[in-house]
Amino acid sequence: MKKNQSSRRKFIYTTGITALGLPLLSSFSNCNPSTQNKKTMNKNKLGVALVGLGGYATSQLAPALLQTAHCYLAGIVTGTPSKAAAWKEKYNIPDKNIYNYDTYDAIKDNPDIDIIYVVLPNSMHAAYTIRGFEAGKHVICEKPMALSVTECDAMIAAAKKANKFLSIGYRLHYDPYNLEMVRLAKDKVYGDVKKITSGFGFNAQKGIWRLDKKLAGGGPLMDLGIYCMQGLMYVTGMEPVAVTAQQSPISDATKFIDIEETLTCQFEMPKGIRAEFVTSYTDSHNFLKAEAENGWFQISPAFNYYGLKGKTSDGKKVEFAPLSQQAKQMDGIALSIKEGKPSKVPGEMGRRDVKIIEAIYEAMRTGKRVIV
Ligand code: NDP
Repeated sequence: MKKNQSSRRKFIYTTGITALGLPLLSSFSNCNPSTQNKKTMNKNKLGVALVGLGGYATSQLAPALLQTAHCYLAGIVTGTPSKAAAWKEKYNIPDKNIYNYDTYDAIKDNPDIDIIYVVLPNSMHAAYTIRGFEAGKHVICEKPMALSVTECDAMIAAAKKANKFLSIGYRLHYDPYNLEMVRLAKDKVYGDVKKITSGFGFNAQKGIWRLDKKLAGGGPLMDLGIYCMQGLMYVTGMEPVAVTAQQSPISDATKFIDIEETLTCQFEMPKGIRAEFVTSYTDSHNFLKAEAENGWFQISPAFNYYGLKGKTSDGKKVEFAPLSQQAKQMDGIALSIKEGKPSKVPGEMGRRDVKIIEAIYEAMRTGKRVIV
């Protein structure tokens, strides 16, 4: 599963502003959070409340919500009073739109909030999503959707009962590089895809909730491997019929107490396509590569927010104008809500992935092939 490092003749796919339907990041360099958030500027936009102001909400989602055309940052839910004060100031959020985990349910009486975006540790996704629906709001829930299929079913049932939309934070469905991989496969530009491989891993710091099974639900598979699984499926347009998986020996038993450290997994795809990935909280990986009848195409890095790079066996370099994946994702979801159309990344997709994750863990534990 090594990345192909060979340098090739360059061919640039330029994708302009209009083709992507999104302006360049630089056009937003003068965005002023304190004015952007005023309701008058946002009357046609859906109000989003971010739940859990951690790394992802702070460094990606909130800045992206300054660039969105169909939604804006209307409120926050946080357990940390100092964050509430800082966000209130930075994003001009009125006091009435600031909640903590005890007052969260009162959001049902707040007409400024249309969408709740759950950005909490994985074990909290199901409860906060269900409470969001009980408050009568649409919900975006971060990946992985939940810790079990049972939880996913309860979340989907809550969405149906509330007659609201549930989407999962799968940002790469809005990323041009990953979409180009899908196009090259679908249009059979290099013939039928015969093999697809992926890897995502990095060295996780000791002590973070991601290493705590109670909060994370598992190890790198839940957090990073899920991107690889998604890549194998959206590029081939297929889902695995069965899986096998192997865990590598643990290098530090005080760090990896009850989660996997590194995992390799094979998907048994229809039509005999070979599909496999590696995910790790120790080793670095970041690629998605498809090998077809007449050549290959890949992106590496494949899963970052910025700086993705693509190339093909005939020396073409895949390149797009920079954009915010999160702005595109939240705008895409908000627009589908406005138009009453199904989400591109619905709860059912999140459930499918959790079902596959459960099968992978069973395969890892038993050493057996597990039917999905
Ligand atoms: P962080 O640890 O940075 O933030 C999580 C936040 O959740 C905390 O800051 C805190 O916010 C709140 N929180 C409430 N209870 C707890 C608890 N018991 N332990 C820790 N935090 C708690 O995590 P991330 O922002 O990196 O990840 C959050 C979610 O987003 C995860 O599900 C992750 O998988 C997903 N994610 C998705 C990404 C993507 O690209 N789609 C990228 C990164 C993460 P507060 O202080 O406001 O209460």
